[in-house]
Amino acid sequence: MSAVILVRYGEIALKGKNRSYFEKALFNNLKSALRGLEAKATRKHGRFLVSGPAAEKEKIVERVSKVFGVVSVSSVQVTPLELETIKEGALELVEKQYRHGNSFKVETRRSNKKFPLTSPEINRIIGAAILKKYPYLKVDLHDPTFRVFIEIGYQEAYLYHEHVPGPGGLPVGVTGRALLLLSGGIDSPVAGWMAMKRGLTLEAVHYHSYPFTSQRSREKVIDLCHRLAISGGKLYLHLVSVTEIQKEIHNRCPSELAIILLRRMMLRIAETLSHRRGLQALVTGDSLGQVASQTLESMAVISSVTPMLILRPLLGMDKHEIVARAEEIDTYEISIRPYEDCCTLFVPQRPATRPKMNKVAEAEAALDINNLTEAALNTMETIQIER
Ligand code: ATP
Ligand code: MG
Repeated sequence: MSAVILVRYGEIALKGKNRSYFEKALFNNLKSALRGLEAKATRKHGRFLVSGPAAEKEKIVERVSKVFGVVSVSSVQVTPLELETIKEGALELVEKQYRHGNSFKVETRRSNKKFPLTSPEINRIIGAAILKKYPYLKVDLHDPTFRVFIEIGYQEAYLYHEHVPGPGGLPVGVTGRALLLLSGGIDSPVAGWMAMKRGLTLEAVHYHSYPFTSQRSREKVIDLCHRLAISGGKLYLHLVSVTEIQKEIHNRCPSELAIILLRRMMLRIAETLSHRRGLQALVTGDSLGQVASQTLESMAVISSVTPMLILRPLLGMDKHEIVARAEEIDTYEISIRPYEDCCTLFVPQRPATRPKMNKVAEAEAALDINNLTEAALNTMETIQIER
């Protein structure tokens, strides 16, 4: 027996000329999500069909329903385009489902308008056949305990009982390439996920202060990237040490500016790295007003070091919404592991919340910015994270 999974996508179907480009990207991303399974994907009239061995059904649904651009996924029963076989299929589906409840509804969608019956007619005929065989079931059009979905396609019909929601959004790769500044915290993995959802291919950079930060915090970031790769595909993670930079800042600059200065160095390094890797924008987990470095004044002073576009997908979200999303995408449990971040080292007693640009420039004059940036990039380590 084999499994067939119907994959629906939404938004990309609406985008005129880009449509075939987006479909191709989604198709490739689906194929890459299925790597290692025996499943095969084909394109079919504004849908994808994935077929594979029955034993892989759950795995296929699980993987495909995480791919950006996918709106929903259903494991379907395929029948020829004839009323009798559709009826048999529907009865079989009810046989499997009726123990889940006592009322049902038949919902037909007819993409193939050449089929001789209309959707309401099919609903009535199939509904009557179900009632005849299972007289103890009731029809409930408003709140049934299970549904029988019938989709009349061009060559065949599909029957199923549920939609597994996908993440929606756009296929990764269609809008460009960006660099995610990934800390070990709750926010930046969510920001990365949201950027990928809008079609960006990501690479990630993580700044650490080994040996002040541990091997554990490194593993944490690698694990976070694995989670992101489940939805977004292969990912490069760049690990950059800022230990020297932090020491220099600590020794030479006013302590209340330490975090601002470190953040500015992070952005400089990110900018150079982006040029080398052909990345067009930066993505951060910044939100407004959570911490001293996220006041408008701080953000302005920090981001003014680079002309690069900085995307902040979390800006409109409350903390509890970010946490809820982190739980949904399975990054929360990893993010709350208690290992230190480089920014918690040498944390000033009283960080400046309204830094003045001239004071920052004055403080930075004590640093050899170019050499520090180059030295950090020279010792950078890059890991390729597979899905
Ligand atoms: P997060 O939960 O992502 O750590 P946060 O609420 O702790 O965010 P900040 O510490 O102000 O906020 O960091 C703001 C953003 O700066 C982070 O979301 C991340 O994009 C970037 N950032 C901070 N620390 C690092 C780091 N060690 N490596 C890479 N990026 C970092
Ligand atoms: Mg943080």
